[in-house]
Amino acid sequence: MVNGLEIQNLLGQMVEIPSESTHEERISEFLGDSLSSKSLRVGHHRFNTYATIGSNQLDAATLLFVSHIDTVATTPSWTIDPYKPTIKDGRMYGLGSNDAKASIAAMVHALLDVNNSDLPEQLARKNQAITFIAAAEEEIAGWNGFRGMVDQFQNIKAAVIGEPTSLRIGNSQRGREVIDFTTHGRSSHSSRPYEGVNAATKLVEELGNIFSWYQELFADNTDAPTLEVTILKSGEKTNQLPYEALATLDSRTTAQFSGALILATMDQQKLYPDTNIVGREQNSVVAKFTPESSPLIIAVKRILEESGVNPVTYAYTAASDLVFVPSDAQGIVLGPGDSNQSHQANESVNLNQVITAQKVYSGIMRGFKL
Ligand SMILES: [Zn+2]
Repeated sequence: MVNGLEIQNLLGQMVEIPSESTHEERISEFLGDSLSSKSLRVGHHRFNTYATIGSNQLDAATLLFVSHIDTVATTPSWTIDPYKPTIKDGRMYGLGSNDAKASIAAMVHALLDVNNSDLPEQLARKNQAITFIAAAEEEIAGWNGFRGMVDQFQNIKAAVIGEPTSLRIGNSQRGREVIDFTTHGRSSHSSRPYEGVNAATKLVEELGNIFSWYQELFADNTDAPTLEVTILKSGEKTNQLPYEALATLDSRTTAQFSGALILATMDQQKLYPDTNIVGREQNSVVAKFTPESSPLIIAVKRILEESGVNPVTYAYTAASDLVFVPSDAQGIVLGPGDSNQSHQANESVNLNQVITAQKVYSGIMRGFKL
């Protein structure tokens, strides 16, 4: 049994340590020291700290628990000290209290709880492992965070991402594709347009064509990928036909309509063979979806019910590390706290929910069959 006061104290200690994205060194060390003092196997990857129970083989079947230690910056709207944890009416106030140090505190104590049982030995015997990762740079989707280290786990079966979901199960998250659309023409004086080819006119035609295709396909689809023009560039002079025109489109993709599919369809639909349509690889994120029928969700629903929480699944709409979980692994977002509190001045979290979250995480560690 874990004492609720210990979870609360750990959360308070973490709130006291400033940990804005890319400045997670201190909190990462603090967590590493606390976990190794409880005789857990601890590793570091830059400012990510992780601890494993069970098998230490690289190919161990692994259940991941991931949450983030970085916070956004504080703003002038804060009327209390963001780094002084304060408890009032059962809530803890402070920067990151809700997003996502509450999840970290609950996961740490869940791991310590199951570490004091015969579970580590059972896991080791079957070449299975449970790894908790306190990740950096989630708020900026940085390469020094979870996405940059996930490859070192060769056999991830499932992942639970701790973010404020009010203990609902987020089982999908959209991906992203940033698409550069370039049309080509030939410059000429605008009084003699027959001597040139207007790239801007071609771009307008291409975009008109793409958006009528998009509207036709997704007219009645409530789960359509979004598609928005965010940048338009062409021309420099009022009397000159532009030789090139560029539109950048931002699409929030779904598991069904991936960025790759949208790019391929656009390429088929284009009106001019010399129009270039390219996805920006560095911005590309693949959507994640784990069906209700997956063993992870079935197990988590049962464990939530046993903990007195109504099990609900929903589409998670904020950002999280879920999209960096490998495509062949099951993944959900589940954590204490309310997403409305995230990134807000005087952020706070309901402490009872943090304590319930620890029980739920412990339950998943014990009850999910790898
Ligand atoms: Zn978060």
